Amino acid sequence: MADSTTARLRLAPGSMLGILGGGQLGRMLAQSAAELGLRCHVYCPDAESPAFEVAHAHTVAAYDDEAALARFADAVDAVTYEFENVPDATARFLDARVPVRPGVRPLTVAQDRLNEKRYLQEIGIPIAPYAAVDGPEDIASAAEITGLPAILKTRRMGYDGKGQTRIESLDDALAAWKRIGEAPAVLEGVVGFALECSVIAARDIDGNTIAYDIAENVHENHILKWTRVPSTLSEETMARARELGMKVASGLDYVGVLAVELFVVRDGTGEHLIANEIAPRVHNSGHWTQDGCAVSQFDQHVRAVAGWPLGDPKRHSDVEMENLIGFDADGWYDILSEPGACLHLYGKRETRPGRKMGHVNRLK
Ligand code: AMP
Repeated sequence: MADSTTARLRLAPGSMLGILGGGQLGRMLAQSAAELGLRCHVYCPDAESPAFEVAHAHTVAAYDDEAALARFADAVDAVTYEFENVPDATARFLDARVPVRPGVRPLTVAQDRLNEKRYLQEIGIPIAPYAAVDGPEDIASAAEITGLPAILKTRRMGYDGKGQTRIESLDDALAAWKRIGEAPAVLEGVVGFALECSVIAARDIDGNTIAYDIAENVHENHILKWTRVPSTLSEETMARARELGMKVASGLDYVGVLAVELFVVRDGTGEHLIANEIAPRVHNSGHWTQDGCAVSQFDQHVRAVAGWPLGDPKRHSDVEMENLIGFDADGWYDILSEPGACLHLYGKRETRPGRKMGHVNRLK
């Protein structure tokens, strides 16, 4: 241990880990924490949070409720988060009282697309051409940088294709600005990708980094539907993607698991990686690790935020992960009878179209 501060920041088994956010990612983090002898306290404004059912304690309160946050900070030994839209003021408030891992900066970078792009550029990672758009009058000059067609994306709160729209021509600019809710945005060039993949990387409090095998992702209606490992990428491209993930983590002084979503462009000169976005948390495209590796992304994140050594990210099986979206989850009984199928359901009480209800990892 480098110094007494670092030493203080290693949790002992039995410690209480605070988790901001109570969705399925928080639930699976709490399950891994329990496996490792830690207890979890989940903080979420939604009383129906799937993570509450598997946690030692929970708090239902708003993210700006300072009295509730102060009580939460007193009750836990470290705090992590399961989604990137935790207000950074909340993370800062907690960080003054208790270690917040992965940290506050990863949130400020990843929850704003403009900050995210600037950071990726700063550390030399290729991204699509982009320009900031603060009003409809900026779209024409932004399009000179990106070319058309382009994608207009809100800087904040976009996910699963929400808050973004394609612009085919400048005649469409005003309508596009209205479609995204007239919010500060970035215009981004359309990438002619051959496929999408992601890297799941982790970094511990001593600065050691690891990355999992690269998985290929297929989206349907802007929502991740399939993740497959191994990918069809060349060994060299996969090695570059792993390096890229670890570089993103190191540059942010990150502690925990993160994902970087990547586009793969194939041309006459080979395969090129273009970063799309950073998720400063465990990620849906890493769910395959639960059944494909000895140490899953959830175990890995818990180890890192506890100040513990990272585990070996080696993959022992080929896996195809299928997200069970909306009524897909009604097929649970049949999935259970498939050989090699590992079913994970999130315990959500209400099925809605487009809602992630569970996933299945099929070992190949
Ligand atoms: P995002 O919300 O940025 O993750 O985008 C959701 C999905 O939209 C991505 O997974 C891609 O399939 C597609 N997409 C986003 N940005 C671009 C882009 N610049 N070029 C091509 N496709 C994109």
